[in-house]
Amino acid sequence: MPDDPLPPLRDVIRDHGLSARKSLGQNFLLDLNLTRRIARTAGDLSQMTVIEVGPGPGGLTRALLMEGAAKVVAVERDRRCIAALEEVAAAWPGQLDIIEGDALEVDLASYLEGRPGAVVANLPYNVGTALLVGWLETEPWPPWWQSLTLMFQREVAERLVAAPGTSAYGRLAVLTGWRADARIMFDVTPKAFTPPPKVWSSVVNLAPRAEPLPCNGRILSRVTAAAFGQRRKMLRQSLRTLGGDTSALIEAAGLDPTQRAETVTVEEFVTLARAVEADGS
Ligand code: SAM
Repeated sequence: MPDDPLPPLRDVIRDHGLSARKSLGQNFLLDLNLTRRIARTAGDLSQMTVIEVGPGPGGLTRALLMEGAAKVVAVERDRRCIAALEEVAAAWPGQLDIIEGDALEVDLASYLEGRPGAVVANLPYNVGTALLVGWLETEPWPPWWQSLTLMFQREVAERLVAAPGTSAYGRLAVLTGWRADARIMFDVTPKAFTPPPKVWSSVVNLAPRAEPLPCNGRILSRVTAAAFGQRRKMLRQSLRTLGGDTSALIEAAGLDPTQRAETVTVEEFVTLARAVEADGS
């Protein structure tokens, strides 16, 4: 692997005046051993276009290039970071494209240049779950991404992989379990970030399921939002916000109206979403 030809990240941050902004979820990773470990967690990237959301000063970006990514497309909202990222692009000619913009608005799939896509990101905490839900609801399926390797706050990571019957089980676990295999790969101490956040983080790896149960993701999202919006209530109560004949829906899905959302499996939520779709309400 080629060595990193660029100055230490601390110098990059100082020289470009990149003081971290809380409003943009900026907690930077400066340790190249850690960023390289994250890049390696994504697997073999040598044939991939890697989409990186929020490259910031470029630590993970540099690691992805060093670990052999064919191409990195980095989408950054903070204009202050662009000049620093252009220095990385100059050191890796033709291998890094920088897009200045909001990752929630950018059509990420349009940047793959014919290669399979992987997303690798130390996500800004304030838009991380919205981005993930968008990637899980992608149509058509299989999606444009072959893997997602994402840093989340540990509590959020635990919600992605939670099993029914646990307090972390909710809408995110259902959407994730429906379409992906998700694994927590390792935890990261707050001390690894500049500035350090209050909580631990975890790197999660998600692979798309080849044949998820057929279902409309938006409806599944709506059903789980209703069910877990009042997670202590029985389904016959919590699902009322969906409109229509709640009892008929629950019956069509083969569920018990006195069950609580926490006990409903992913497969059962999918059946419920299909019943809602068939009902047309
Ligand atoms: N990747 C860098 C690292 O690991 O050191 C920075 C990670 S920091 C947690 C999150 C980054 O996402 C920041 O650079 C921030 O400016 C950027 N960001 C925040 N909201 C964004 C959005 N909606 N679209 C793209 N980038 C965003």
